[in-house]
Amino acid sequence: MTEIERIDQLREELHLHNYKYYVENAPVISDQEFDHLMRELQDLEARHPEHYDPNSPSVRVGSDINKNFVQVEHRYPMLSLGNTYSQAEVTEFYERIAKALNEDFEICCELKYDGTSISLTYENGKLVRAVTRGDGVRGDDVTDNVKTIRAIPLVLHGDGYPRQFEMRGEVLMPWKVFEELNRERELREEPLFANPRNAASGTLKLQNSAEVAARKLDSYLYYMLGENLPHDGHYENLQEAARWGFKVSHVTRKVKTLQEIFDFINYWDVERKNLPVATDGIVLKVNSLRQQRNLGYTAKSPRWAIAYKFQAERALTRLLKVTYQVGRTGAVTPVANLEPVQLAGTVVKRASLHNADIIASLDLHIGDNVYVEKGGEIIPKITGVDVASRPEGSEKVTFITHCPECGSPLVRYEDEAAYYCTNESSCPPQIKGKIEHFISRRAMNIEGLGPETVDQFYQEGLIHDVADLYTLKAEDLVRLERMGEKSAENIIQGIARSREVPYERVLFALGIRFVGETVAKKVARAFRSIEALATATLDDLIHVDEIGEKIAGSILRYFADEKNRNLIERLRTAGLKLEADEEDLAGHTDKLQGKSIVISGVFARHSRDEYKEMIEKHGGKNVGSISKKTSFILAGENMGPSKLEKARALNIPVMGEDEFLAMVGEQ
Ligand code: AMP
Ligand code: ZN
Repeated sequence: MTEIERIDQLREELHLHNYKYYVENAPVISDQEFDHLMRELQDLEARHPEHYDPNSPSVRVGSDINKNFVQVEHRYPMLSLGNTYSQAEVTEFYERIAKALNEDFEICCELKYDGTSISLTYENGKLVRAVTRGDGVRGDDVTDNVKTIRAIPLVLHGDGYPRQFEMRGEVLMPWKVFEELNRERELREEPLFANPRNAASGTLKLQNSAEVAARKLDSYLYYMLGENLPHDGHYENLQEAARWGFKVSHVTRKVKTLQEIFDFINYWDVERKNLPVATDGIVLKVNSLRQQRNLGYTAKSPRWAIAYKFQAERALTRLLKVTYQVGRTGAVTPVANLEPVQLAGTVVKRASLHNADIIASLDLHIGDNVYVEKGGEIIPKITGVDVASRPEGSEKVTFITHCPECGSPLVRYEDEAAYYCTNESSCPPQIKGKIEHFISRRAMNIEGLGPETVDQFYQEGLIHDVADLYTLKAEDLVRLERMGEKSAENIIQGIARSREVPYERVLFALGIRFVGETVAKKVARAFRSIEALATATLDDLIHVDEIGEKIAGSILRYFADEKNRNLIERLRTAGLKLEADEEDLAGHTDKLQGKSIVISGVFARHSRDEYKEMIEKHGGKNVGSISKKTSFILAGENMGPSKLEKARALNIPVMGEDEFLAMVGEQ
């Protein structure tokens, strides 16, 4: 078999395994075997760029090229659905249809998935375009991002599909993925997504498809459009689509009577809570496409369909008071304290108020009767006030002006909804939070210490900042409650061992705002010692790859503060690593700083992976495909003709292996 034949074979196999896993939920090979085949395909494809296929299973991993989206017009506008919360209106809908059609009809009952809608165009069995709903007339072309969604077929099975047609459906983020994502965001102190719908639509608009791939979106398709569709029945077309490899819902039912419709509604109003994805209602559609055409459209929505929305679970209770929590970064979050009330199976006593703007828009008063809802959100929220029952002379809720923990005045930064306490060095929750971050596993990894011990040491006055850890003695600790000699000794040893933690992790452990793990690594590589970093200018900082003004500003502010500089001196005295180890940096240079380099072809002196490593070691970035941002192409033998042509067109230099090695000073 030639390599080209093998590529075709692998593509076919991987499409099938992908379908078995993500659509049928019944994998036939292990994840490892799958990865193995994928790697083989990627290697072969890299050697044969002339055999490129935009729908190869390998495009599912995405690429780290940033893209701006192009707006495209929908072939058929994407309308919204008329919707109702009332069963009486469902009856009216049914009767209206019966009267207008004046013949037998069937209704297709479907779940209303709560994600973001997508329009997919297939030509000759291949996905060619994916567009968001946008304003209904035109949306964003998000094809590269959508290709990373495994439940969406890139190449269809079998035959019998029209040469060109459109599938519409919903892109979803499963609850589990959503919760995991929010947990991570919380750790990184990024704003949380309110519900899986926002998370899914936010993800589709990410500029980097590799990031989209990591978010594990799912999708259900629920409508087929085009000329020459196989059947007159919407339901029958969907079953056909399932045979071509689309993921369509198994629970869709075709019914005739109103009673059957209500049975479906009532069943799913309860059962939907056990589904892995969010739903917010059910959709009823007249099944026959001919009858759909007869019924037609209003300006906004089809006359042949209606959405029945489930009531979000809601309760009315009294607002007792508003308290404020201060987080590790000093962000102040208002919390509503409520008279306990039963809601969606739990007793609710507190609800998030998010920020000052939300309080103001609700016009909250203490003692108000408020509506609490638990919709897609994890934390219950207040959605309204029963103003009519407001007690006379009640006090309006105004956001606090000073920190409830330390009394410092609060500030609000431009473009941010939250208020902050900026007293980083003596506001208790901020101090404790900083120490907790410092000792955590990915930072200094000090064994034996945890949030409770930190709290205890702080309460006892043993530590006020991270440098105090290094002057603790076992004798001080054994005096504390619940502290044996052995554990005290372990803690002291754990602290001592942290002196070996490399500079880049110390940098992360300091907890400088916006300097997470990855940024710390970049910074440590660019500024080999903490002095070098402390004396860097704005200009020096923003020249480092991936460091923008926001991060640079935060680093400058950190070192401008004398308290922080003193802290660092004390950490130096304690013996922490505040500069990069020689061996750690072996051979690292910044010769390729800021360069985006594409590797193409087959090499004689080193492997592709070795070249990739070399590029990174010298501060450059290896990117997947050629764009106008590419600095140069590192080309071996047999560079693909299409790549070569693209490089020429964009005027991008092509460099051979020897020339490259000489440039970076390697053999
Ligand atoms: P709305 O946004 O409330 O007007 O509801 C219409 C939206 O519901 C559509 O744009 C789709 O994104 C979504 N939807 C979810 N499930 C379905 C379904 N089974 N059939 C049609 N639309 C659906
Ligand atoms: Zn404070």
